[in-house]
Amino acid sequence: MQMFQCSLLSPFLSYSLYLYNIEYPMPLPNSGRYMWRGRLVFVILQYIHTLIILDFLVEYEGCKWYKKIYSVTQQQMKKDIDSIIGKLKGMHGQPRCELNFSNPLELVVAVVLSAQCTDERVNRVTEGLFKKYRTLKDYIDAAPEELEEDIRPTGFYRNKAKSIKNIAAEITQRFKGKVPDDIDAFATVKGIGRKSANMIVGLAYNKPAVIVDTHMIRVLNRIGLTKNEDPEKIELDIKKTVPEAMWTALSLLVILHGRYICKAKKPECPKCLVKNDCDYWSGGKRDV
Ligand code: SF4
Repeated sequence: MQMFQCSLLSPFLSYSLYLYNIEYPMPLPNSGRYMWRGRLVFVILQYIHTLIILDFLVEYEGCKWYKKIYSVTQQQMKKDIDSIIGKLKGMHGQPRCELNFSNPLELVVAVVLSAQCTDERVNRVTEGLFKKYRTLKDYIDAAPEELEEDIRPTGFYRNKAKSIKNIAAEITQRFKGKVPDDIDAFATVKGIGRKSANMIVGLAYNKPAVIVDTHMIRVLNRIGLTKNEDPEKIELDIKKTVPEAMWTALSLLVILHGRYICKAKKPECPKCLVKNDCDYWSGGKRDV
């Protein structure tokens, strides 16, 4: 990939050398039968030559001046998503969600509970909760105080209990008791934003989904896969540049990456396998 990116720069350098008539590796014929053939050979040789030098410079991390030029050109070039996903897998294993669930309704409840709470704590709470509440009706019929008590360790338990009961009622009334498998429709349910709709439909129904949370916003901006902060614009950016089959995997891997390596305050860049694809790193940032 880097070789390919460098090759886009090489013709310009070759042509500049040609314009300044730098005669390496052989004198140019200025007239005669072989003039154009000689010049063509010259440009091809310069092309190969600059390509080798530039590829070396990309690999050589100490070369800051080149990194600066490279980061500018890199922003304009399409990132190699396959390679980025492969490297993310190398660091975090297969794409996965860290919330435990065995059906779409359980995932809805786990996602609501995960606001401002770690997945680990949510999993501890849902272990017993999912045995007690098995259907939408169980949540609708539950006494608010009892449900609040059952989810208390996840924090903001009054709002979360109210939200779970409202969502259960709306799914029952508007979607005939089935958690919707359509992201746009599900996002209209009160208490389910676009992020949650993408996450639930993507994971529970195995559909392509771009799950934009705070980790996605930060990491995608650092890598250079978007220049936007607005989740809906980021979703569109990813949909434009990443093949549909990779949306969910990329989202889950980027979320794991943001959680464990590309942290908000101190990204651990030196041990990050994505660094050579990352604008933040190639722009000369060295936080650790
Ligand atoms: S190189 Fe650093 S900023 Fe870039 S993705 Fe890796 S950890 Fe994040």
